[in-house]
Amino acid sequence: MADSGRAGEKIFQGIPVSPGVCRGRILVVGRPQDEIQKIHVDEEEIGCQVQRLEQALIDTRHEIHEVQRQVSAALGAEEASIFDAHLLVLDDPTFMDEVIRYITQQRVTAEYAFQHVADKYIRTLSGIEDEYLRERATDMRDVTSRILNNLTGSGQQIDLRHLKDSAIVVSYDLSPSSTAYLDRSKVLGFGTDVGSKTSHTAILARSMRLPAVVGLRNASREMQTGQYALLDGFNGLVIINPTDQTLFEYGQLVRRQVTLEEKLQEVRDKPAVALDGTRVIVSANIEQPSDSDAVKASGSEGVGLFRTEYLFINRETLPTEEEQYEAYRRVAAALKPQPVIIRTLDLGGDKFLSHLNLPGEMNPFLGWRAIRFCLVEKDIFCAQLRAILRCSVEGNVKMMYPMISGLEELKKANAMVDECKAELRKKGIPFDENIDIGAMIEVPSAVMAADSLARHVRFFSIGTNDLIQYSLAVDRLNEKIAHLYEPTHPGIIRLIKMTVEAGHRHGIWVGVCGEMAGDPIYTPLLLGLGVDELSMAPASVARVKFLIRRIKMAEVQELAEFSLECDSSREILARSESYVRKVAPGLFEDSPQP
Ligand code: PEP
Ligand code: MG
Repeated sequence: MADSGRAGEKIFQGIPVSPGVCRGRILVVGRPQDEIQKIHVDEEEIGCQVQRLEQALIDTRHEIHEVQRQVSAALGAEEASIFDAHLLVLDDPTFMDEVIRYITQQRVTAEYAFQHVADKYIRTLSGIEDEYLRERATDMRDVTSRILNNLTGSGQQIDLRHLKDSAIVVSYDLSPSSTAYLDRSKVLGFGTDVGSKTSHTAILARSMRLPAVVGLRNASREMQTGQYALLDGFNGLVIINPTDQTLFEYGQLVRRQVTLEEKLQEVRDKPAVALDGTRVIVSANIEQPSDSDAVKASGSEGVGLFRTEYLFINRETLPTEEEQYEAYRRVAAALKPQPVIIRTLDLGGDKFLSHLNLPGEMNPFLGWRAIRFCLVEKDIFCAQLRAILRCSVEGNVKMMYPMISGLEELKKANAMVDECKAELRKKGIPFDENIDIGAMIEVPSAVMAADSLARHVRFFSIGTNDLIQYSLAVDRLNEKIAHLYEPTHPGIIRLIKMTVEAGHRHGIWVGVCGEMAGDPIYTPLLLGLGVDELSMAPASVARVKFLIRRIKMAEVQELAEFSLECDSSREILARSESYVRKVAPGLFEDSPQP
């Protein structure tokens, strides 16, 4: 529900995920699938409803054949055969006859009749003990949603890559893939009903410097395309019909922000050195090769995390080895001699290959994701590994694996790298024999196994986004439990400490590349815990450097010791925040509520 603000204003409160303020017209692009109403039709309209159903079946059949063709090209015929079961649902005469009978006898629309009969079948199938038959309920659900999309036209979406006018985009949700390709010249910012700070959609918004608010609950239903609004990405507000006074106050906030940005520019080319001389590596997270310009402009020391998934999504086919080589080479060459850490493919979770349309999983973050996918899809993995190895002679390239959960997995991945190296050697293709390989530490079991893992890699990079969700059992995408997603939870502090100690015991460096690394509130704590490198969105680099240059290591070590003893997330957070406010009060000049 929205609150009313000053005269005529309507204020929606959500979760701020990407700073900045924008104002313009709202464009609502996606609402949650509306419940299908029972609508009666006249006798003479029944034939037309049956025809609509038949047309939707034809369209759906075409769609499934097309998906099947693409899956077969990308993953092979066996994977594509899963869609045979979907086609069988479409061709089931008993089922379709029942739908037609329901339309005729009850005189209702095709979509209502279809949903009614499909729900009955799904309920029956889900209750059966036989696992094979229970699986058919999933196929049925999938096909049902395709047919309903075709019947209601809700599958037709606005093309967010090319908008006619500039707009604040509002949607029930936005996938990371749609966000990556938002029309940058027209989209001023975005708001979604669901989501959280560490979703990849939010991470992208920060990296694109696009103001964004998520968790706005019913915004996509209550806001209308064409309404004039102001979106405040600092405080998580969307204000419909802002008054002149509100616009004036926000104008002042934006001016303060510009002044702070100018001040931060002064540290851009200075090293991140604490007051006692301790040197910290500050690097950047990127998603696209073109982000290397932003990395250079940010004053960071190379790339600590290159999320390569974005080369794979939003396209009809997989990128070839050559295409990948060119993309990685471009970044490596642009930034050399600075290091570029390329993370191998981390598909799954909330990032999917749009063209593969693989069946959904109940728990995608616990499912066939990241290194688990790559160790099965060996051709896809090896093509990427060869591309990375080949570009290692073009700059200072390192690589790391996501979501390692134990030693076996790490050894298998390393063995595949060795195979790819042997293949290149045999063909006389040059690569850096001594390329550094690291493991992301983002699964609690990897922390427990860190001593063994450390013997097989040259560095650790802690992915706090996932480490927090997996350790605290808090879905990183779910706004309803966002308050439980606590980076300063005592359990998390101890896991980070254990990882750092294990890494240092074996003489390897330990970085953090999750969102915690780019939020200045956590910088002193992470450095106090002994972290060697922090990797973050380019937009955060100057703030973090500015702060590091005001830190005394003895003080932050004391903060870390306190935190390791403390059993309250809030107290740890309060201590961290008050330290940052004490040593760098200027950092907060642009954030207070106007
Ligand atoms: C993380 O989990 O912290 C991380 C950096 O990886 P991603 O956000 O891409 O899952
Ligand atoms: Mg991760």
